[in-house]
Amino acid sequence: MADILKGKPVADAINERTAAAVNELKEKGVVPTLCIVRVGERPDDLSYENGAMKRAAAVGVEVVRRIFPADVSEEELVSAIDGINADPAIHGVLLFRPLPRHINEARVCNALAPEKDMDGITDMSMAGVYAQKKLGFPPCTAQAVIELTDHYGIDLTGANVTVIGRSLVIGKPVSMMLIKKNATVTICHTRTRGTADIARNADIIVAAAGSAGMIEAEFVREGQIVIDVGINWSEEKQKIVGDVDLDAVSPIVSAVTPVPGGVGGVTTSVLMSHVAEAARRSLE
Ligand code: NAD
Repeated sequence: MADILKGKPVADAINERTAAAVNELKEKGVVPTLCIVRVGERPDDLSYENGAMKRAAAVGVEVVRRIFPADVSEEELVSAIDGINADPAIHGVLLFRPLPRHINEARVCNALAPEKDMDGITDMSMAGVYAQKKLGFPPCTAQAVIELTDHYGIDLTGANVTVIGRSLVIGKPVSMMLIKKNATVTICHTRTRGTADIARNADIIVAAAGSAGMIEAEFVREGQIVIDVGINWSEEKQKIVGDVDLDAVSPIVSAVTPVPGGVGGVTTSVLMSHVAEAARRSLE
């Protein structure tokens, strides 16, 4: 049976490092501060916000919130972001997406100063991921995958990694970050032919397709490590499930991350570490 690579020990280790960094900054008179920008009251956003606020309190990061009604105008939102950019007391911003349809999301995201972009939502942050420059921050979930491999001592050098998914939130940035760690990366997407064969050939699979239980026995072989980024609501099981069919896969592979309790639990810890790092960079 596969080892279950839980997210909690990874998150705990990140939190410990972040809390120490936050204390050091506070001794220098800087209070690392995150601004959460939320439009409307979507239950997913509220639940993530609650988790983030608890995590922030645990590591000593301050949180301020800017909450707007769902019918807020694009101009009002951009002007609020301009104000946040100019506020030296705010080091990082988490902007919930998707924004309502009447708003040009790309314009609002790119209004944010990249140095305050904690979740890789600006084009400049993404350019930083590709160019390996500190222009902003990578998306928290993509970095959570890397933190997890680091924590469990998974050697990426020369490893064949198949990433399933090519979104700008996970698939593409995590692929670049894996290459930086010297992995050989193949990206699969909806138009890929033979995804199961490609996945079975890999040493490591990163599943970020958003498709409940799609990684079944035919995608895997003995000795593989499977990292499940998916968070999907299963109507059939009436619960949150990953992209990996754990019952089918865990008797075959070496190690697998669970859902819930895997990568997802690491994301808010990465977010707080970004806030501390943004505050540290603000002193440079
Ligand atoms: P997305 O829908 O934007 O992208 C999914 C990608 O997977 C696409 O590029 C698509 O081409 C590919 N894909 C879909 N079905 C496929 C298939 N059958 N075969 C091959 N490729 C396929 O989704 P996203 O925003 O990248 O999120 C992916 C998953 O990660 C979702 O389940 C989402 O809920 C989850 N997620 C988790 C976290 C976290 O903190 N763990 C954060 C964000 C998103």
